[in-house]
Amino acid sequence: MADLTDLAVIREVLTRHGFSFSKALGQNFLVNPAVCPEMADRCGADKETGVLEIGPGLGVLTKELALRAKKVVSVELDKRLLPVLDETMQAFDNVTVVNADILEADLSALFAEHFAGLRVVVCANLPYYITSPVLLRLLESDLPIAAITVMVQKEVAQRLCAKPGTKTAGALTVMADYYAEARRLFDVSKGSFYPAPQVDSAVIQLMMRPAPAVAVDSSERFFRLVKAAFSQKRKTLVNAVSSTLHLSKQTVLDALQGSGLPEAVRAEALTTAQFGELYHALQARGALIA
Ligand code: SAM
Repeated sequence: MADLTDLAVIREVLTRHGFSFSKALGQNFLVNPAVCPEMADRCGADKETGVLEIGPGLGVLTKELALRAKKVVSVELDKRLLPVLDETMQAFDNVTVVNADILEADLSALFAEHFAGLRVVVCANLPYYITSPVLLRLLESDLPIAAITVMVQKEVAQRLCAKPGTKTAGALTVMADYYAEARRLFDVSKGSFYPAPQVDSAVIQLMMRPAPAVAVDSSERFFRLVKAAFSQKRKTLVNAVSSTLHLSKQTVLDALQGSGLPEAVRAEALTTAQFGELYHALQARGALIA
């Protein structure tokens, strides 16, 4: 089988198919031969596992996943890559390529059709323009996903893997921590891609929790509070939350006090559990988050 990390092979295949890269679709293909085997080894794929891949590109990671997993389903938006993948994935009968937008695809139907009876993990070199929406869609989906192992840009990796309650934390940190335990697996340089992107990257892993980190009646409303708290980074939490959610400042101050938090606290100082307490304290004071 052709080496899909070899630039000469890539150029030959792409020229033959008349393919040109789309920046808008985040098409930076992996050419460092060490990266895909490492991702596939660490994503938890084995012969009892189904893998959902997002954006197979030429199939460089798909191939490594197919060698380890029972089944791989790769969702690719760019139609022009379908004939290329037909060719590069010819040797594998456990790979299905689905032409769809990962943000629109009916994932429940896809899981029912392809992954019945299998443990499922996600593994992907994500198109960076949709990193957060894709991760949030997967995390919020209620689908039986055991782990998500993805390449993201380095700054996003830092944010996702920050500890809630520390300076680098943001809304995404708390939202990911609510559903999963995040860790950074390894860094990947710009030069590992063709064409090389502007930014460095890292592979991170989200291990799904059996239940969310805090018990709240609505994750949607809880996230609205979290996003509001982080929405104006230079403001204190009380100002950011009261102005964004149209709550009285006094109610938010009371709720902070009720949660044992200082008046001038900022969002990044709160752990996920403290956000949970604040949420309940606001509810107890009749402050409904719409
Ligand atoms: N997996 C390949 C690799 O590692 O070389 C390609 C990764 S490239 C960073 C991202 C891939 O995602 C491209 O193939 C691109 O066409 C595809 N893509 C972009 N937007 C997408 C979307 N909304 N849904 C599914 N695939 C998408």
